[in-house]
Amino acid sequence: MQTTGYAAFNPDSPLAPFSFERRALRPNDVAMEILYCGVCHSDLHTARNDWGWSYYPIVPGHEIVGRVIEVGAEVARYKVGDHVAVGCMVDSCQECDQCHHGEEQLCREGNTGTYCGVDRINGENTQGGYSKHLVVREEFCLRMPEGLDLSKAAPLLCAGITTYSPLRTWNVGPGSRVGVIGLGGLGHMAVKLAVGLGADVTVLSRTKDKESDALALGADRLLVSSDPEAMAKAANGFDLIIDTVPVKHELDPYLPLLDVDGTLVIVGQVGPMNELSTVPLLLGRRRVAGSPIGGIRETQEMLDFCARKNILPDCEMIRMDQINQAFERMEKADVRYRFVIDMASLSAA
Ligand code: NAP
Ligand code: ZN
Repeated sequence: MQTTGYAAFNPDSPLAPFSFERRALRPNDVAMEILYCGVCHSDLHTARNDWGWSYYPIVPGHEIVGRVIEVGAEVARYKVGDHVAVGCMVDSCQECDQCHHGEEQLCREGNTGTYCGVDRINGENTQGGYSKHLVVREEFCLRMPEGLDLSKAAPLLCAGITTYSPLRTWNVGPGSRVGVIGLGGLGHMAVKLAVGLGADVTVLSRTKDKESDALALGADRLLVSSDPEAMAKAANGFDLIIDTVPVKHELDPYLPLLDVDGTLVIVGQVGPMNELSTVPLLLGRRRVAGSPIGGIRETQEMLDFCARKNILPDCEMIRMDQINQAFERMEKADVRYRFVIDMASLSAA
């Protein structure tokens, strides 16, 4: 199937229109028309080759909401017209212990990324959701629950699940004290989801600028991470801190905030961190952990949870041809709180 989208052609140039082929349907494939695609900071990292594993051209986008337009002969779960979604993975081995547990993101062979991946059957580079169409095996297709506003739901597929998964892994519920470092796309979803689970939530932001936003999102307070006095007062006050900062940074100021056995889970920076002192780790039996997205079963659970609780991202809708300005604004943390591309704008772009 011929389709069209926007791709990065090298690390330094703006994204530009790109026509390419989606594979012919396999018996277990679903083809969809993409309606909306969220803009994740990982799209920007990938376009710029920040992680060193990008290929070109590359079509980013892994927060995808669409409508089924065709199904393969063996597809049982979906039919033409269904509203569906795809997140950060499109395949995994389906045979290892992790895949059997529904933790395909931890597949022993590595999951296949929606972009920046290699198709396990034909060896082609995968291409993401900044495009008109997508073909995906049905096991990696999510069902959009009735009642969830399709135009706002796309960011749940990455920002949502990446923050929901650690909240569930560390059993956050009523009475849990949760901190969220960085109020961006992931951070604002971490706040809404933790509030939805009943936690007491603190946003840790570099300045006071986002205080009213943090409270409006449901957080109980905002703590300015650049204010050493306020940080000292908050010592030992958290069970879980989710760190969404997208660049290398200091962890030392945050570790004393954890209570005994508390965990700081990194979901933001992929790569080296600044050196950290183990003193607060040893003395408080504190932990530093990491967490990648979430499994398919958990992603569906998160979508259903959001539909039940009416939790939706705060979105700014853009046209496909505004993507380069959106990237520039994202770099300046000037996003409140997720750009979503209206794919209907693509043919007009
Ligand atoms: P984003 O919307 O750009 O938000 C990042 C936030 O971090 C900003 O709003 C800002 O919050 C804070 N920040 C930005 N630059 C900073 C700096 N230099 N120092 C300290 N804080 C800074 O990004 P996002 O889409 O949420 O993504 C965040 C990171 O998560 C990216 O690196 C992305 O690649 C990664 N990610 C990981 C996974 C995973 O599976 N683990 C999944 C998706 C994304 P304040 O203004 O409040 O300080
Ligand atoms: Zn993402």
